[in-house]
Amino acid sequence: MAGKPSVIVIGAGSIGVCSAYFLARKGAKVTLLDRGDVCSGSSWGNAGLVVPSHSVPLAAPGVIWQGLRWMLNPQSPFYIKPRLSWDLATWLWRFRAACTEEHVSRASVVLRDVSLKSIELFDILAAKEELDFSYERKGMLLLYATEEGLQAGRHEAGTLRKVGIAASEVDRASLGERMGGVRTNAVGGMYYENEAHLVPSDFVHALANRARSIGVEVRTETEVQGIEMRGRKVAGVKTKAGMLEADEVVLAAGSWSPGVAKALKLRLPIQPAKGYSITYEKPANAPRLPLMLAEAKAAVTPMGNMLRFAGTLELAGMDLSINQRRVDAILLAADRYLPGIRDGLRHVRTWAGLRPTTPDGLALLGRSTAFDNLTIAAGHAMIGISTGPASGLLVSQVVTGEKPFTDIAMLDPQRFT
Ligand SMILES: Cc1cc2nc3c(=O)[nH]c(=O)nc-3n(C[C@H](O)[C@H](O)[C@H](O)COP(=O)(O)OP(=O)(O)OC[C@H]3O[C@@H](n4cnc5c(N)ncnc54)[C@H](O)[C@@H]3O)c2cc1C
Repeated sequence: MAGKPSVIVIGAGSIGVCSAYFLARKGAKVTLLDRGDVCSGSSWGNAGLVVPSHSVPLAAPGVIWQGLRWMLNPQSPFYIKPRLSWDLATWLWRFRAACTEEHVSRASVVLRDVSLKSIELFDILAAKEELDFSYERKGMLLLYATEEGLQAGRHEAGTLRKVGIAASEVDRASLGERMGGVRTNAVGGMYYENEAHLVPSDFVHALANRARSIGVEVRTETEVQGIEMRGRKVAGVKTKAGMLEADEVVLAAGSWSPGVAKALKLRLPIQPAKGYSITYEKPANAPRLPLMLAEAKAAVTPMGNMLRFAGTLELAGMDLSINQRRVDAILLAADRYLPGIRDGLRHVRTWAGLRPTTPDGLALLGRSTAFDNLTIAAGHAMIGISTGPASGLLVSQVVTGEKPFTDIAMLDPQRFT
């Protein structure tokens, strides 16, 4: 592209803010729009884990049978709300097709590259750029309640080692010490050393403020209500403040992206996957590093001055209501793995968020083939904080025509059509 483009970024969550920041760093004139406040979507109350160890996509062999078993248990970490929905049916069909060893090994490489780049960028943003988001690199400990779970954990660690993600097993006797004195009933653990954690809302807000300081215009309470097309161009986005125009448009509206894309007659295969977090004031005896309760698929993150429990994955449509039974299931799992962990805790907030989830566990990131000036950056599922900075960098490279730092063919937004 000749000269520096003007760019509208739709959505000020982790992905939109990171995209706006890196675009501005490359000299683009960026307007960042959100229908609410900055970080008012899924990026707000999540578990704050930066996890190269999540480089195995959700769609993996065995997941479907496990999912069917969970469906029968109202306190399980997974649920699909039965409903007649063509989009859900095709999504599940594509998910099933992606549950192969071959897909897992190819996708893991892409996820690893993006995750490791993100860690590098988080280090820079926290240390050199001095953004304060309580970033800590202490690794992460997975706890297994059963021998069967530990066995599955060893298998997963083996898959990850093949793509260069280091993992070491921790025996039962050493678990408590690793956590800083926390009691556990786990039979064993797996330590991933290259992981980090942070306060996600602090990260997104701090980066949005830095983006503002380098020229990004951030417009909150500015919902994109429609999009005007002119041939193969997105001519402008309609907001209550009128039509806004730019050379380029980036769609980064998380779980709301398919709704926005409909105005362009594009179907994005993203299902909102609801999860919950329960945040407490951090007690003096909190674990010293983040934990994953492996079989329960729940996270326990000591972030900043908070202790956050998070988990469950519900395919229930665009529904942010809180199902207390599932929230309780997260807390009961914590009690099972970590007896006494919740004693005397002071509750701050219970929250629900929608992970934008694609059938094959990879984001949709790249140029649309239908429009010459549209880039899509959505569908980051359970790792949109973790992969945020690298995704933002990729968006800036795609929009400005630079070579992406890694091969993004597998992220092609058109791959399902
Ligand atoms: C319980 C839970 C735990 C999680 N834990 C982790 C974790 O530990 N690590 C991790 O990496 N990820 C985690 N995630 C996933 C992570 O939260 C998401 O992947 C990430 O937030 C997605 O970011 P996003 O920017 O794509 O979407 P969002 O943060 O949802 O942002 C989308 C934005 O678009 C805006 N928007 C929507 N429609 C419009 C419109 N029409 N016009 C303008 N703006 C619009 C919304 O207001 C919103 O601010 C977790 C998620 C949940 C639910």
